[in-house]
Amino acid sequence: MRYDVAVIGGGPAGLAAAIRASEQGASVLLIEREAKLGGILKQCIHDGFGVVRFGEKLSGPEYADRFVKKLRQTNVQVSLLSFVTRTEKCDDGYKLTYVCKEGLKQVECGGIVLATGCRERTRNGIGIHGDRCAGVYTAGAAQNLVNILGVMPGKKVVVLGSGDIGLIMARRLTLEGAKVVGVYEAKPVASGLTRNIHQCLNDFDIPLHLSSTVTRVFGTTRLEKVEISKVDERMRPIVGTEQIVECDCLVLAVGLIPENELARDLQVPLDPKTKGAIVDQNCQTLAEGIFACGNALHVNDLVDYVSESGETAGSAVVRRGKRKLRPVSTEGKLLYVVPQRIDVNGGIDKVVMYFRASEELTNQRLVVTAGDETVFSKVYAKLLPPEMERIVVNFDTAHTLDDFTVRLEDK
Ligand SMILES: Cc1cc2nc3c(=O)[nH]c(=O)nc-3n(C[C@H](O)[C@H](O)[C@H](O)COP(=O)(O)OP(=O)(O)OC[C@H]3O[C@@H](n4cnc5c(N)ncnc54)[C@H](O)[C@@H]3O)c2cc1C
Repeated sequence: MRYDVAVIGGGPAGLAAAIRASEQGASVLLIEREAKLGGILKQCIHDGFGVVRFGEKLSGPEYADRFVKKLRQTNVQVSLLSFVTRTEKCDDGYKLTYVCKEGLKQVECGGIVLATGCRERTRNGIGIHGDRCAGVYTAGAAQNLVNILGVMPGKKVVVLGSGDIGLIMARRLTLEGAKVVGVYEAKPVASGLTRNIHQCLNDFDIPLHLSSTVTRVFGTTRLEKVEISKVDERMRPIVGTEQIVECDCLVLAVGLIPENELARDLQVPLDPKTKGAIVDQNCQTLAEGIFACGNALHVNDLVDYVSESGETAGSAVVRRGKRKLRPVSTEGKLLYVVPQRIDVNGGIDKVVMYFRASEELTNQRLVVTAGDETVFSKVYAKLLPPEMERIVVNFDTAHTLDDFTVRLEDK
């Protein structure tokens, strides 16, 4: 079997990429390991999705459903319950191996879109010591239990991490009858949106403890208690501040990491800052014919931008040309900038760039230059690392198409 394009992952990024590639006339295979399309959105039953794209506050499943319905009007072949285990280069493109109901299958394709989402940081990932008891879940696992399977992960819950996922899970578990003892956060400020602090914690009298973390868990078979320690400014636990909190469930909402096992297989270079592939403005990685989008590329805060990058990848994978890549350097307090390369042959009049500040900043100016020339600048009253920023830059008028820099400076 051969397709023009194989899209791996049927979340919002993969759905958008597959629809767009098919609309451009390509034969497309969409491979998804779960039984249903929609990715993580299937279990995000709260609202707030699609505000940018649809001007409406949809739930995750409602947002995904709009794309699934559109996909059904295309000729995209969908293979569910299919897990891609291997990707390799072949004479005329790539060969994929996947496990599905019929067994092991192989297909060839001209181009690949990696839309595999991200994985959650686990207890081992953040080095929590103690007993190996039941009752310690990542937020995604707890969300899946409550929202999809209708099972409560515990009755007395400690949530670690005050990002939006942690806050939303604290509220969700409270609404379902659990007692959330507190949300603990190692940083001195909460990571989630202010509106989520109010709507998820303050409205439900859930205490937020800053500069604190879980340092040990106790329990013979089931979790019985956790040890909480205060942390210093470098987030190291302070000896002597330990406190015991009784609970039967610990929910870890301590960060997402782009899922890039397949990219590694293909030796696609990754950016240590984003943990996703290095790409140009069309979402093409440094390996010709391999594209990355959505959370596999970098952790997005809004699903609308996930769909946008899927569409970019889906269009570009069909109409590929000879590239001329130029690096994008960063200066100032920037956590990262995507894309990390500009293909000066690849459409430069509307280059969408995403960035995050490395710390909370006020009165900043973001400046994009080509050589000595400023091609874009924008003033920000406030920048917060959890909030991703998006700009659209026109490089077409620049005199030099080289030496691209994105700089953050005090206004
Ligand atoms: C636990 C969790 C909760 C979240 N909650 C919210 C929220 O409340 N609000 C919000 O705005 N955002 C939330 N997000 C962010 C959300 O991930 C993004 O908005 C968006 O869903 C990312 O889309 P995606 O298509 O890139 O990835 P995903 O939605 O994660 O989709 C990736 C898909 O790829 C499939 N896949 C991966 N590897 C393979 C493989 N090898 N073979 C076949 N298929 C594969 C997966 O099964 C999955 O369906 C949450 C993320 C997580 C992890």
